[in-house]
Amino acid sequence: MALKVLLINPPRFEGIPVIREERCEITERYSVLEPYSLLQTAALLRQAGHQVSLLDLNGRDQSYGDLESEVRRFRPDAAVYRFTPTTFDWDQKAASTVKEVDKSITTAGICWTLHTMPRQVLTEAPDLDIYIRQDYEVVAPALIDALSSGSSLDGVAGIAFRANDDIRTTGKPVPLKDYDLMPIPAFDLLPDLKPYYVTAPAGRPFTILYTSKGCPYKCSFCTVAGTPWKMRTAPHILEELRYLKERFGLRTASFFDETFTFNRKRVEDICRSLIEEDLKVKWYCNTRAHLADKELLALMRKAGCRGISFGIESGSQRILDSVEKHVTVEQAKEAVLAAKAVRLKVLCSFIFGLPGEDWDSVQETLGFVRETLPTSAQFNVAVPYPGTRLHEQIYGVTGLEEPDFRKMYQHASVVGTEKMTPEDLDKARKMAYKALYTSGRWWLSNVKHLLREPSDLYLATRYAMKITNNYVFHGMRDAH
Ligand code: SF4
Repeated sequence: MALKVLLINPPRFEGIPVIREERCEITERYSVLEPYSLLQTAALLRQAGHQVSLLDLNGRDQSYGDLESEVRRFRPDAAVYRFTPTTFDWDQKAASTVKEVDKSITTAGICWTLHTMPRQVLTEAPDLDIYIRQDYEVVAPALIDALSSGSSLDGVAGIAFRANDDIRTTGKPVPLKDYDLMPIPAFDLLPDLKPYYVTAPAGRPFTILYTSKGCPYKCSFCTVAGTPWKMRTAPHILEELRYLKERFGLRTASFFDETFTFNRKRVEDICRSLIEEDLKVKWYCNTRAHLADKELLALMRKAGCRGISFGIESGSQRILDSVEKHVTVEQAKEAVLAAKAVRLKVLCSFIFGLPGEDWDSVQETLGFVRETLPTSAQFNVAVPYPGTRLHEQIYGVTGLEEPDFRKMYQHASVVGTEKMTPEDLDKARKMAYKALYTSGRWWLSNVKHLLREPSDLYLATRYAMKITNNYVFHGMRDAH
């Protein structure tokens, strides 16, 4: 029997947009992203014969009142929404709103960051019936099929659910092996792409998209460390971009993959296809510093890449080794300079407060920034997310009391290191932003970039407005 399923991206949190996508489940004041994972889920459910409606309340800046109207109109059998740790209680209102209209509607929520604490999630979210803990691409369709056939939820891997006043969890799902089997996400359920942008509202129409997913590296602080890497081939990616170009006039895409250049041959294939087809879509990606050399970066630039983001984490080799980054500071410097040399914008992200951090290593990170002058930088503080090795090292061994997961955000420390208090780390973060934004050499380097890339002028202006606003008025909270 086909079910009616309502997919919900909850509203903004205190007016601030929220990203609810696997490794990135956070508030982010200056980005409004498509609910890509829900669009994928919608396409999968339709493929299985179910009837689907989707509400992106965050994207459209709508309220729970709009959700209530849609529930009354659509009368779904099941409602699936995403939630994040810091917006947990707010996001659970999606379930309460649905239940207030009709208690018999099954509610299911997706969140990756809390996947190791299903009991706590269900205990603290009374209107949530089923928690989809991992691999939504396989688990959500299996769950809806089970609900539709009335079969036991014990047979659906990757979930936690309520049963006879108890909470039951099922085993690990088998991850999707062939990512090319995913249908094109159901973008047609969005009226348009007008609300969406990343970092600054420029280059629209814009979308995020995954060309691969997962990361087999083992960085101790990362919530997706050691997850199987699955990838799409060039023809499959081109099919989606072509569709987005034709339907929405897409101009910019951010490949949301954790490690876009993990497989060099695949990246070369994608680039050659993009060059051949000349879709005139500019794109951005994330990767690790040792997986990007000048030759590859030049090819990416030729294929439309305009910016790359590296998770550098620290300018101190001692710190990189302590978190098993398996990249050297020299490799990181070379990658940043090579990307700049081929006229890519470079975003570097850093984390203060990883094991062993002290004021000397903070200075090494600031030295790295001064030497390489990336186009922009994010300075975060370390967050010991549940399920990471960092979490185990801090709370498993020391017996320290764990903070409320609602407080885990990379703009405010919940824990210090041996040599630095949480307050020191917050201070280091602000100091780093101040050092960057008041650096004449940094501004000059970006002006030089603009002289070579005048088409970036509008983006650069919006970015400058953003950082001023963020630094002066918001103290770099809920944003980077
Ligand atoms: S390389 Fe990036 S995505 Fe992969 S484990 Fe390390 S931090 Fe996470």
